[in-house]
Amino acid sequence: MQDVPLLISRILNHGSALHGTSQVITWTGEGEPERRSFAEIGTRAAQLAHALREDLGVESDDRVATLMWNNADHVEAYFAIPSMGAVLHTLNLRLPVEQLAWIVNHAADRVVIVNGSLLPLLAPLLPHLKPVEHIVVSGPGDRSLLDGASAQVHEYEELLAGKPTAYDWPELDERSAAAMCYTSGTTGDPKGVVFSHRSIYLHSMQVNMAQSMGLTDEDTTLIVVPQFHVNAWGLPHATFMTGVNMLMPDRFLQPGPLAEMIDKVRPTHAAAVPTIWQGLLAELTARPRDVSALTQVTIGGSACPPALMGAFDKLGMRVYHAWGMTETSPLGTIARPPAHVVGTEQEFAYRLTQGRFPAGVEARLTGPGGERLPWDGESAGELEVRGPWIAGAYYGGEGAEPLRPADKFSEDGWLKTGDVGTISPDGFLTLTDRAKDVIKSGGEWISSVELENALMAHPDVTEAAVVAVPDEKWGERPLATVVLKEGATADFAALRSFLADEGKIAKWQLPERWTIIEAVPKTSVGKFDKKVLRRQYAEGELD
Ligand code: ADP
Repeated sequence: MQDVPLLISRILNHGSALHGTSQVITWTGEGEPERRSFAEIGTRAAQLAHALREDLGVESDDRVATLMWNNADHVEAYFAIPSMGAVLHTLNLRLPVEQLAWIVNHAADRVVIVNGSLLPLLAPLLPHLKPVEHIVVSGPGDRSLLDGASAQVHEYEELLAGKPTAYDWPELDERSAAAMCYTSGTTGDPKGVVFSHRSIYLHSMQVNMAQSMGLTDEDTTLIVVPQFHVNAWGLPHATFMTGVNMLMPDRFLQPGPLAEMIDKVRPTHAAAVPTIWQGLLAELTARPRDVSALTQVTIGGSACPPALMGAFDKLGMRVYHAWGMTETSPLGTIARPPAHVVGTEQEFAYRLTQGRFPAGVEARLTGPGGERLPWDGESAGELEVRGPWIAGAYYGGEGAEPLRPADKFSEDGWLKTGDVGTISPDGFLTLTDRAKDVIKSGGEWISSVELENALMAHPDVTEAAVVAVPDEKWGERPLATVVLKEGATADFAALRSFLADEGKIAKWQLPERWTIIEAVPKTSVGKFDKKVLRRQYAEGELD
């Protein structure tokens, strides 16, 4: 067979020529959304590549960072930067500023493309960003914030203007770096994951499979998951392969605008973490909109509570639960129930699992003593995976060796996910917890996720997070932190007996420590931040 490298430029050329009329639709907050065709994205990506090479001197392998919302300019950067041979580095704009600066310096980003609306975040950081030579500003924002910057400042549109609309994309090695993304540093420094052209190409084909997201050019996908969060789960690349229209929310990520864009633009699919869907559900309950076009929703990033899935089913939106992490590109599993259970009582239970591994992802479970555990749906152990879009190491820094910490990679090269769960004989993963969130009570494990899901099924509860707290007798016990709906009256005794009802939760697992909070603290990508809760408890703030 021909040895044709799997390159991002091939995805771009395909999408802009064969699906040239498909659109990237960016929400602008007022009036009509901005629509840009895939053909225009193709010509503008070529112009951007010319500008980066000829005006800014970007060379192969240089890191070009983006500090941007989900929008059409960001899609252009997604394709132009890797296609020309440089490396796209998406920056998580919700990280603490010290971490952001650390990441830019570690990746040695030479250029930052920034949305004007994010200049208040970037400007004070600039003196600390040593390698940055050029800043390219796109969209509205106060440019005067950059007065006095030592890096050169450019206007995105001015750079593109007059540049040739085609680029002779180089024939790169498909294993070369195309993009990178740092995981949020929950412990220690953040870790850089580098995606190759090949891994992104193969991952995109998987995303497009009927048993994954399975979208076509008749679809429009609302990409709420940020482009800085594991390449927006691979959707921008995947859609360019198939002509799926993209609806991009830009900075309008609150439930109100999201509901409005679903009503007006009528996407058929959407992807986001559970907290976004919780917010949207409350909004749609308070102010119903026409969301009838949206029939398929991909939820991942943290466990989807059964109550949330049930509520979206009632709205006519079918939820597909997926599991992944930055290190897995991210698609690791997706919960499409097997044909023989569709229409039966078992179907919902299958949909609640994290899902089935696709052909490109091999999995195994490892017990506490390093032993392999069977796929019997009962034996719980740490999940390890390998495959062509699974990281084999972390980025070590310029000129440094890749990092392979022993707690993250097995001796034979599998990724240790840090997630604990079971796998059924037919390959469906059920996560019980993250290893660091499991509550170890008197030699037994309590799943924080199971308690949270049970609590969030109570009609008075909007959010619930459970963390381990030290206990003299048992080592650790669960602390339940609960957010109640407005005007709700449930007290702890009522919640406790709700959990105990019908044996939902075993008696010894029932929390004896409870607290009501206003909102569960969230991480930079919208997940429950249990680290903060544990700290608040330790500092006596949660009593
Ligand atoms: P971070 O580690 O900063 O949260 P990632 O986005 O890479 O960044 O998170 C990956 C982790 O998110 C997984 O290891 C897993 O613990 C959790 N996760 C992702 N999807 C799911 C899911 N569907 N159910 C439960 N946990 C999930």
